[in-house]
Amino acid sequence: MKITIDGIVCEAQKGEMLLQIARRNNIFIPTLCHSDALPGLGSCRLCMAEVMDRGRRSVVASCIYPVKGEIEVFTHSDKIKSIRRNLLMLLYARAPEDETINKLRKEYGVPDNIRFSGDIEEHCILCGLCVKACEELGSSAISTINRGVTKKVATPYDEPSSQCIGCGACAYVCPTNAIKIEENDGERTIWNKTFQLVRCERCGKPFATREQLEYSNKKLGTDCGEALCEVCKKAVVGEKLKDIYERTT
Ligand code: SF4
Repeated sequence: MKITIDGIVCEAQKGEMLLQIARRNNIFIPTLCHSDALPGLGSCRLCMAEVMDRGRRSVVASCIYPVKGEIEVFTHSDKIKSIRRNLLMLLYARAPEDETINKLRKEYGVPDNIRFSGDIEEHCILCGLCVKACEELGSSAISTINRGVTKKVATPYDEPSSQCIGCGACAYVCPTNAIKIEENDGERTIWNKTFQLVRCERCGKPFATREQLEYSNKKLGTDCGEALCEVCKKAVVGEKLKDIYERTT
């Protein structure tokens, strides 16, 4: 099936998300709440695009819009740019000092003198990507709590959560680096909970929490074996392959 995005003819599979098709064809659509590793959320709405389908024009969130037929898409029309400007104005009002938001704000010509301005310490834009990442992982240690101006992402009662394994996936996917994760002296602190880090048995570098390793071993049904960091794991695989090659040639 073929669709047209900004005048470019793109190959598409039925049911594939519009954002995915655009990215595969190097057509840039801005996003904040999107991670390739997770299902689309459609929460930040920056990925809005105009779709012309059988003579009807509509505005859709491209990360959650499954393509079903031959459509024409406009990702940077005047209407879309105006929607993004309004959204960025709201995001800027919430997180006025955030670098990611300010970069997009400038790109879309949103002035910095808007009437309402939030806490300069605030970086969370409540996109929900961290909550989704934790949920997909199977921990569900964090969620969105409260309403209105007090709405935020937190562990239950802001207490250290027994569900949290300190993996840091939530901080890793956060588009604005709003989640504080600190590592000092072999310890990692996140969401008010401090974890001991396990050292790599090869290079000695602290690399993961004990809870994280136990969790992934349980989930993957594997035995702990040697606790190795990603770099050493790759080196071990490389050495094994080299060994096999030398023995068979
Ligand atoms: S660090 Fe804790 S809250 Fe964050 S994704 Fe991992 S388990 Fe969830």
